[in-house]
Amino acid sequence: MSFVSVWEQHDFTAVARTIAAKTDADARGALARARARQILTLDDLAALLSPAAAPWIEEMAQLSHRLTVERFGPTIQLYAPMYLTNVCANICTYCGFSAQNRIPRKALDDREILTEADALAALGLEHVLLVTGESSRYGTAYLRRALRLLRPRFPSLAMEVQPLAEADYAALAGDGLSTVLVYQETYDPAVYPLHHLKGPKADMRHRLDTPDRIGRAGLKKIGLGALYGLSDWRAESWFVGLHLRHLERTFWRTRTSISFPRLRPHEGQGITPTPFGEGELVQAACAFRLFSPEVELALSTRESGRFRNHAFRLGFTSLSAGSKTNPGGYAAEPGSLEQFATDDQRSPAEVAAFLRQQGYEPVWKDWDATYDGAGTERGPRSEGGGQKSEPRGRGPGAGETPDGSVATAAHHDGTAPAAR
Ligand code: SF4
Repeated sequence: MSFVSVWEQHDFTAVARTIAAKTDADARGALARARARQILTLDDLAALLSPAAAPWIEEMAQLSHRLTVERFGPTIQLYAPMYLTNVCANICTYCGFSAQNRIPRKALDDREILTEADALAALGLEHVLLVTGESSRYGTAYLRRALRLLRPRFPSLAMEVQPLAEADYAALAGDGLSTVLVYQETYDPAVYPLHHLKGPKADMRHRLDTPDRIGRAGLKKIGLGALYGLSDWRAESWFVGLHLRHLERTFWRTRTSISFPRLRPHEGQGITPTPFGEGELVQAACAFRLFSPEVELALSTRESGRFRNHAFRLGFTSLSAGSKTNPGGYAAEPGSLEQFATDDQRSPAEVAAFLRQQGYEPVWKDWDATYDGAGTERGPRSEGGGQKSEPRGRGPGAGETPDGSVATAAHHDGTAPAAR
């Protein structure tokens, strides 16, 4: 069964009402089952996302931390995006690259892609997320060419690009792609058309079934997410959980990840985001960790360094670092328009140094090239630009603050999300 069929069985508004009606006993019951290492149900997820779980955030955060360290060790993966093009055929109300915005359009050529690769490699990064707008002009052929250029330099390559056909994903996997992220933006059918006004992305169902096509094509990892700020964050998170459970059961050999993009300032902005502050982000992340001890959770540079320094130990497994969100942003054309403004401006080396201070091991790549029988041209790396990755270790208690508390980030300011 495809995910669209699963999604159609649930009404977004009814889910929001069910979550709002959860009680303290529901939240405590879900937490107790998570503590007992039982597999949580979607009803448990609803309880953990509900207002009734608010008094239990500290306990959720501590358990989320413990489960994450048990599964992943005290490690955090570091990665950065490489924007290849801002050309896009879609009109999305929340994005600076939207087709109606009169901005200079740019697509990196071979030389510029290699220039960007050199700049990212000099930062010590070995795990790169390739990002594009959605345009058939820069479809599979362009992406395959980029992968072939970059594969000898980076052992771990991921993509966040337009939805493709299953055969295209399979071809990209053959060129060294390991991961595809495809955010649904919103699972709310009443809201989706309000923000996707024109272009292929207006087809909500096609996007909903994209992760299934990625799974069938045999990619190693599928990334999910909602763009927080478009609709009710609790119901959005529950639908992300529904999608996650579907993928875990259907493609059980494929790893999964969840990201937490929320609306940021951008060119042509003009919408008012629904509330989703730092406290809500922590509650969602902890709920996902208790719901799925295996899923990887990513926290991007959209968030502030202050918040990331507190929140990273609450269940997250990867951080972007030193991100530029414009094509050529690292070296080839630093002045081009960014998709959205980042907040945490620290370099990867600074983020890695912070993690080491906290007792965590920064991990610089996802897959080693030898796993795929491929080699890279990279030589030994310099200290400060990062060291060769070591196995993700274990160590209960690692990464905790001296007083054993891990939930300091659960005490958030509750401020409204930045307008995008
Ligand atoms: S969100 Fe993606 S599809 Fe929409 S305008 Fe931006 S780049 Fe294009």
